[in-house]
Amino acid sequence: MIIKQNLEEILKTVTKGCTLIAVSKTHPAEKVLEAYQCGQRVFGENKVQELATKYEVLPKDIQWHLIGHLQSNKVKYIAPFVHLIHSIDSLKLLQEVDKQAKKNNRIIDCLLQIHIAQEETKFGFSADEVRSLIESEAVVSLNNVRIIGLMGMATFTDNQEQVRAEFRSLKELFEELKHMSLPMNMVMLELSMGMSGDYTIAMEEGSTMVRVGSAIFGNRNYTNP
Ligand SMILES: *Cc1c(COP(=O)(O)O)cnc(C)c1O
Repeated sequence: MIIKQNLEEILKTVTKGCTLIAVSKTHPAEKVLEAYQCGQRVFGENKVQELATKYEVLPKDIQWHLIGHLQSNKVKYIAPFVHLIHSIDSLKLLQEVDKQAKKNNRIIDCLLQIHIAQEETKFGFSADEVRSLIESEAVVSLNNVRIIGLMGMATFTDNQEQVRAEFRSLKELFEELKHMSLPMNMVMLELSMGMSGDYTIAMEEGSTMVRVGSAIFGNRNYTNP
């Protein structure tokens, strides 16, 4: 019951054109099903194993998003079905996704993760690294991936102005790239930013996808990056 109420409350506040990704990591498949029965079809997970297991047991019309750090050697487990990978943080990883997508005869949509937080621990490209990635020959030749936008995580802090500034910087980069001449397999459509604690600010700053976990499913019983 509580999941239904939480979902309804959040959906009321999600702006038109913004996708709510229900982040179900650490919660059992039954909880995902509960949200599914309320009409939610888009779910996010941060671990490959957990994502693959849930994919097996849950309805096949769910769109599964991989939002956490992805190791190249694990791409093969999600390549047959993943809807969007939010966490591309190296050319090597992008090349592996392309290779596995080709094996599965599909084109996999991806976002480039950008490091916008002050914390050292968060993954992602810097703005300059992304600019040079776009110009590199290596990306143009990848026929089985499509880069459709950017993802970022703000610093974990109570300082809302800092969070807002970080989201704003990501939106500025997004707009800059949007107006550049991009390779054929790249188009700036989606800006994935905002979690339970900061998704309202993220939407005000132009987010098109919010990744909300604990505000829907409750607290996770261990800390998960
Ligand atoms: C866990 C996680 C979320 C959701 O976090 P909540 O604070 O529970 O909403 C969003 N994005 C990423 C990358 C995550 O790992």
